[in-house]
Amino acid sequence: MTGLEIIKKAGEEKRAVLTEIEAKHILTEIGINCTATLLAASKREAVELSEKIGYPVVLKISSVDITHKSDAGGVKVNLKSQDEVERAFDQIMEGARSRFPSANIEGVSVQAMAKPGVEIIMGMIRDASFGKVLMFGLGGVLVEVLKDVAFRIVPIERNDAVEMIEEIKGRKLLEGYRGQEPVDIAYLQDMLLKLSDFVDQTPGIEEIDMNPVFAYKEGAAVVDARIILSVD
Ligand code: ADP
Ligand code: MG
Repeated sequence: MTGLEIIKKAGEEKRAVLTEIEAKHILTEIGINCTATLLAASKREAVELSEKIGYPVVLKISSVDITHKSDAGGVKVNLKSQDEVERAFDQIMEGARSRFPSANIEGVSVQAMAKPGVEIIMGMIRDASFGKVLMFGLGGVLVEVLKDVAFRIVPIERNDAVEMIEEIKGRKLLEGYRGQEPVDIAYLQDMLLKLSDFVDQTPGIEEIDMNPVFAYKEGAAVVDARIILSVD
């Protein structure tokens, strides 16, 4: 399925929330680098996909009814063997079924384990007066405590992307801090531009949340993504 077909299908089902797998599929299609993410409906399939992707892997609950996956005990990272994958699969499924008995669970997503990077967030929200607004900020604990985020009205140009990243109070963390390597700021600007073009040209998108994105010396990887559609 193409990204547009995913959006159309969800609309027909009157479903506003896309799964992480669907969201990453759409973002990958527009040239945004996401960790390889595949759906496993059974434990055996989870092992097969882990072997295909290559250890270590991450398993996460996949359900349109569960949006905060780690709150539900639904994220297990750094699984290094078939044994660990099998155990994680059972734990995730049991946890989800007991905490969300009425949730519709399609399985688990099996993902490549991204190497650590500087955590950032990127996304799009709708503002009552400004319409579609892009957002960029530092992720992790810092963003939760400091709300260190920059906003721009869609569509943005290169210069806006440059400014958004420069505006962040914690931008030293991106420029290399205490021996840590600087991140690929030009790559992050490109991501913002791709996101802006996409939401500008695609009707029916209410919200996009990439949280976290790991930023590297070269490139970046989206590790978690959520897309909400406007259903009427
Ligand atoms: P939630 O729905 O709770 O936001 P996430 O998918 O963001 O769940 O996973 C929680 C945390 O697990 C992330 O913030 C990240 O630190 C880590 N994580 C998730 N997926 C991966 C991955 N593919 N590679 C490495 N770390 C990951
Ligand atoms: Mg997340």
